[in-house]
Amino acid sequence: MARYGGPEVLELVPDYPDPVPGPDQVIVRVHATSLNHLDLTVREGIPTLKIPLPHILGCDAAGHIAEVGSDVADLDVGDRVVVNPGISCGRCEYCRAGDDSLCAEYRILGEHLPGAYAEEVAVPARNILKIPTDMEFAQAAAAPLAFMTAWRMLTTRAAVRPGEDVLILGAGSGVSTAAIQVAKLAGATVFVTSSSEEKLRKAKGLGADVLINYKTTPWSKAVWELTGKRGVDVIVDHVGQATFKDSVRTLRKGGRVLVPGATTGSMLELDARYLFWRQLSILGSTMANQREFEEVMKLVFMGRLHPVVDRVFPLEQARQAHEYLAKGEQFGKVVLTIA
Ligand SMILES: [Zn+2]
Repeated sequence: MARYGGPEVLELVPDYPDPVPGPDQVIVRVHATSLNHLDLTVREGIPTLKIPLPHILGCDAAGHIAEVGSDVADLDVGDRVVVNPGISCGRCEYCRAGDDSLCAEYRILGEHLPGAYAEEVAVPARNILKIPTDMEFAQAAAAPLAFMTAWRMLTTRAAVRPGEDVLILGAGSGVSTAAIQVAKLAGATVFVTSSSEEKLRKAKGLGADVLINYKTTPWSKAVWELTGKRGVDVIVDHVGQATFKDSVRTLRKGGRVLVPGATTGSMLELDARYLFWRQLSILGSTMANQREFEEVMKLVFMGRLHPVVDRVFPLEQARQAHEYLAKGEQFGKVVLTIA
């Protein structure tokens, strides 16, 4: 993209210069990348984020190693790999404590750095993980950002315990389809909301226990009744402005709400009386550290967690893919493949 705006700013540029690897970097020949809501936000332009234009979007990447930097010893040309899109400095107080995604200079591929809507992308070797030989690139590319986000927020930030009730708002997003599975794996009872019966059915297929169609009943009221006016232990609310007030009211006393994003607007309404009297916790979460990335990807490789691919477009149709994602009708991830 040479400028910010709608899907029309995405242009295929056939003769864009190839990236050159730094000493600790590798070049990944990208075979598949997947869309994240972040791509739409970056494309439209984030007022507080200055990125050099032209810019290449794309956080998630799977492909093979095309070139290795001079200091890279443990990866070879031809290795089939997937990329952790979170790039940290490795030196600051947060990195030294293992909190990569709190890094003072934390950057995300495709947001702060040239991304994976490209034949080649340069990434630090430490962000690379080899994938099983029988794993398709489209499957691998659907996993990183969504599963890292779901894993860190539910296991590290909220520390979900077996038997807890976890409510996930919106069944169809990439993060939601990952969060349903991670919460199930943690032993929780999973509640999901959607306005689409079809999405609720698919969520049930991923393990969701309690399905709430908010077209028929407001979800907050439905959850309140279904839990005998107790509320749920944990809510995943990446919807933001449109839902946060109800999320806070739907928590049990001592409950916690996870905020890994805010797709409908970022100014959240909070009644402080709920916060102190009901002793609630509001937990922000972003991405994951390298250890969490490796933990969750291992479960993906083992087949315990399944990246859900809704639809695959060729890179040439990136505009159509953006239009499709913006409609919000998908269930799971939208993938771009690069021949
Ligand atoms: Zn750092």
